[in-house]
Amino acid sequence: MKQNIRNISFNELNEFISGNGHSAFRAKQIWEWIWEKNITEFQKMTNIPANLREMLEEKFFFAISKAEIELRSKDRTIKTLHRLYDNKTIETVLIPSKERVTTCLSTQTGCNLACRFCATGMLKGARNLDSGEMFDHFFYAKNKSLLEYKKNLSNIVFMGMGEPLLNYENLLKTISAITNPEGLNFSPQRITVSTVGIVEGIKRLADDNVSFHLAISLHAANDILRNSLMPVNKKHGISGLKEAIIYFHKATNQRITYEYVLLKNVNDSLKHASELAEFCKITPCKVNIIEYNSSSTNKFQASDVETMQKFSSFLEGRNMLVNIRKSRGNDIDAACGQLANKC
Ligand code: SF4
Repeated sequence: MKQNIRNISFNELNEFISGNGHSAFRAKQIWEWIWEKNITEFQKMTNIPANLREMLEEKFFFAISKAEIELRSKDRTIKTLHRLYDNKTIETVLIPSKERVTTCLSTQTGCNLACRFCATGMLKGARNLDSGEMFDHFFYAKNKSLLEYKKNLSNIVFMGMGEPLLNYENLLKTISAITNPEGLNFSPQRITVSTVGIVEGIKRLADDNVSFHLAISLHAANDILRNSLMPVNKKHGISGLKEAIIYFHKATNQRITYEYVLLKNVNDSLKHASELAEFCKITPCKVNIIEYNSSSTNKFQASDVETMQKFSSFLEGRNMLVNIRKSRGNDIDAACGQLANKC
């Protein structure tokens, strides 16, 4: 049976090449075609001898994603639905602003964690994206950014469909291909991985001493409320999460970002703000207060502007770094928590 070539490591490719009597430098050339130029046809690898290309065709294939539908928001955000080789679909988003163009990438075809405020969490039976698929989506966004906005793609957030740290190896392999200094050389400082707080995954990132940013989707800083909004919290609780974040910070010395979606009469009181401020004392951090998109699910409503301001001022009054994040791409269901293959 043929193997997906983007699922093998460089060493495995190298072994295949030398095992078939070709020089080792061919492996490096083929690797560059795959992971720097995003070429997905062996016949287009023009510096590779014809007999080796034939051999690759016999043994491997490319599982590629195809951009199928594109929706454009009035704020110029673009949401794209990609069809995967097994007919599943995922969505990615491209968000332009004055200074930057950010893409929000997915890591799974849905999500089994069922956060109550999230549309993606309603798509069950999710599978992990492989690194080739994530790479396709990155490359698509990179090209699209130049074409649409005449600007280089400047930032990547892994905040789309799925929980990135439940797809750990593929995520890190993708980031490594994107940031390889001898290849695409995208700065890890412009990449953020957002997690609901997979404790084992956060500790593993620390052990791997990663240099991209970590964001935690917190949304509540007490166990009762967080358990009810995000069932994943029941496993380790707030205390386990805190311990993992401290561990990560000690290893990487990085400032943590907390994402906090404001839900009307659920997590938006000054008592909740005070709990959040207490939580945030554990390491240097910044907080993104996110406007909720009421269309994500029908269960919750967005807090009003005045409540958002009060919540934010309370935190600022404690010398915290706070940003209020307005929703982008609301009209095409491309905002946070809205990705649910509804293109
Ligand atoms: S918020 Fe993230 S982890 Fe929670 S259900 Fe949605 S995609 Fe999954």
